Amino acid sequence: MDDEIHMSISIPTDDDGYALLKCEYCGSFFKGTPADLQDDGVLNIFCPSCGLISDSYVTDDVLELAINMTTNLVNDMIYDAFKDLERHNRKNSIIKFKAGKKPHHEAEDPIRSGIEALEICTFPCCKRTAKIKPLLKMTGAYCPFCGVKNYEIE
Ligand SMILES: [Zn+2]
Ligand SMILES: [Zn+2]
Repeated sequence: MDDEIHMSISIPTDDDGYALLKCEYCGSFFKGTPADLQDDGVLNIFCPSCGLISDSYVTDDVLELAINMTTNLVNDMIYDAFKDLERHNRKNSIIKFKAGKKPHHEAEDPIRSGIEALEICTFPCCKRTAKIKPLLKMTGAYCPFCGVKNYEIE
């Protein structure tokens, strides 16, 4: 058995190609395109709402999915290990292993990429776009890509 387990979770984008992010400081949701978010020219991602650089922008949904996938994987591995023991101990053994029923799987729901009511706006400072709350367009928002506060965003 391999000691290493590789899992990848892709964060789905919405119909416009934006992925959902969540600031761990203020809990605000916003969206950006993977092209902008993973661009080498973008060193940090700033929360458009509070202007801070969050350590993680992974939403609870993604986190939950990752945990469920791990749980399922580990349960399956334990089950398979017991199945093996059961198979090998069938003949003349004092100790009997029973694997029992296959483990119940946690739901691996596709991540909701739709947080409604976020509007696309262009940050003139970086000429990049993000989806933010309409309210932020009026009050001003920090550019997710350079942290400069923009007012009257289109
Ligand atoms: Zn924030
Ligand atoms: Zn900018």
